[in-house]
Amino acid sequence: MTRNPLAGAFAKYRLEATVTDAGMVTPTMRRIRLVADEPIDFAYVPGQHVRVQINDPLSVSGLLRPGETLRTYTIWELVPEERAVELRVHLYDGDGIGLKWMRAAASGERVTLWWPQGDFFTRPAPFHLFVGEETAGAAFGPMLRALDPSAVVYGLLESESPEHDLPMPGPHRLRRVYRHGAPAASSRTLRTAIAELELPDGDGAAYLAGEARTCQMVRDHLVRERGWDRRSIKVKPFWAPGKRGLH
Ligand SMILES: Cc1cc2nc3c(=O)[nH]c(=O)nc-3n(C[C@H](O)[C@H](O)[C@H](O)COP(=O)(O)OP(=O)(O)OC[C@H]3O[C@@H](n4cnc5c(N)ncnc54)[C@H](O)[C@@H]3O)c2cc1C
Repeated sequence: MTRNPLAGAFAKYRLEATVTDAGMVTPTMRRIRLVADEPIDFAYVPGQHVRVQINDPLSVSGLLRPGETLRTYTIWELVPEERAVELRVHLYDGDGIGLKWMRAAASGERVTLWWPQGDFFTRPAPFHLFVGEETAGAAFGPMLRALDPSAVVYGLLESESPEHDLPMPGPHRLRRVYRHGAPAASSRTLRTAIAELELPDGDGAAYLAGEARTCQMVRDHLVRERGWDRRSIKVKPFWAPGKRGLH
């Protein structure tokens, strides 16, 4: 039998896992714990993500709709000695394939992960600024946990209302803001809050994630109105109205 050399090259990034635990952290945030079959020996930096294979790309539906096979989630916590990966997944009001899978995922479910990717992690800086909504919070948690307790941290974390606040690990706190029924897309809540946020002078590092247009608005504010260098701002759009499976 001839082996597909491409499949072989990618196989090393593939990890088979089982859901061992799942539950709600807030009314709209689910935690999902996965345990891998094999030891996890990939290099990993907090803030990086995995891609979860929701549908088989080699199935008929996968071949017909390749965009509807993989979805991206940040590693909330990695415990290599337990071969465990935990995710935090925002259950928004919609019908995406990722949402449906994550909402229903229960202990015993098998899943394939593609590992680990991304450059959305912190860099040394005099101060750090984090801005985003619930999905961004799922990435900011591991990034904040990895920062030294002496790091200087500013941030705005939007959610629907206080009961939807995802608890953040570690000593650093982000300011919570609430949209109270307003859309998360092109968030006016974050646009207003960033304009009001007092920040030190100097070269901070900013991390903007979540809805694409909100990220863009906040970046524009920092660059145009506060004179930030674009290179000091990492932007990672996680989702956008009408687009499927950003990565
Ligand atoms: C690098 C990266 C890391 C990510 N990490 C996380 C994470 O840790 N936790 C997490 O919850 N999400 C995370 N996301 C976002 C997640 O991948 C998206 O929400 C993704 O769209 C979910 O797939 P889906 O199949 O449910 O929806 P899709 O098929 O991708 O989207 C369908 C439609 O649903 C709507 N939609 C999608 N997501 C949202 C949302 N959050 N709120 C409102 N409407 C939405 C949009 O209108 C979109 O057009 C991450 C994304 C990226 C790129």
